Amino acid sequence: MKFGEGRLRRLSLAVGATVVLVGAFSLADAAHAEDCGNGVELRLSAPEAAQGTLLLAQIRSSKPLSEVSGRWNERDVPFWGESEKERFPSNVYATQALLGVDLEKAPGKYEFTIAGQLQSGERLGCQATIEVKEGHFATENLTVKKQFVEPNPEQEARAAAETKRLREIYDRVTPERLWDGPFRLPLDGEFKGSNFGKRRVLNGHPGSPHGGVDFPAPTGTPVHAAQKGRVVLAEELYFSGNTVLVDHGLGIYTFYCHFSEIDAKVGDEVVAGTVLGKVGATGRVTGPHLHWGLEVQRARVNALDLLRVLRVR
Ligand SMILES: [Zn+2]
Repeated sequence: MKFGEGRLRRLSLAVGATVVLVGAFSLADAAHAEDCGNGVELRLSAPEAAQGTLLLAQIRSSKPLSEVSGRWNERDVPFWGESEKERFPSNVYATQALLGVDLEKAPGKYEFTIAGQLQSGERLGCQATIEVKEGHFATENLTVKKQFVEPNPEQEARAAAETKRLREIYDRVTPERLWDGPFRLPLDGEFKGSNFGKRRVLNGHPGSPHGGVDFPAPTGTPVHAAQKGRVVLAEELYFSGNTVLVDHGLGIYTFYCHFSEIDAKVGDEVVAGTVLGKVGATGRVTGPHLHWGLEVQRARVNALDLLRVLRVR
């Protein structure tokens, strides 16, 4: 991503005075820093990450940055941030990115590679080795309606077409950051989310791991957008029932489903708290609940991690 003068100005205009850069608790800890040359440093929120979690990466420079790009998980990692000195303490120019570790990424060591340039024309480059650890996910046996475990050919074709469409949406990386503050939980009140990553056995057949966080809640409970973004899907799908998908930009999508009712439509610009629909029990469920999913550049990660990693500084 380039952030030359013109781009910077547009970015500032777009987000106005309410820009909230996020910092991370552990980024002040230089123990996880890599030298990228010419006074530039890469900091990671942690040197390792479990399957299904997020890392925050930060590039800090004593001189203005011109462009920074990253490569992780065989994908380009978009950076955001304004390089404005006053935004950060200790007079640094900084830009940040989120790295997602898919819940099925094989444990092992992987490289995160950074390349870029300072406004003075000097190059920067470095890499960090990130160790992916095995996540600790429980296995559970569930009984659901037969049609969701042994769909007929027509149902199977429908589900496959929907999966393909979702993949195509997740593959699109909106180049602008659409969110502008901390992410919130999608339900108001004391609802507790769980089940992320669970390995599931459905009616005796091993199923795919559970890619979201489940919040059991009464039918009709309003479901809110976690942050600013654009609704890119709002319809009934075979497995997830009534579903809403929000694009937050930079390859970040939140997914909400099993609604009894959808209150959003494709193209809606939402803010944190906008009601997207109501909790229900549509699709493959055992009872009314909200299923909340998160994809970050195609990595399926625990949505609750967004609240942990992206904190307002
Ligand atoms: Zn679920």
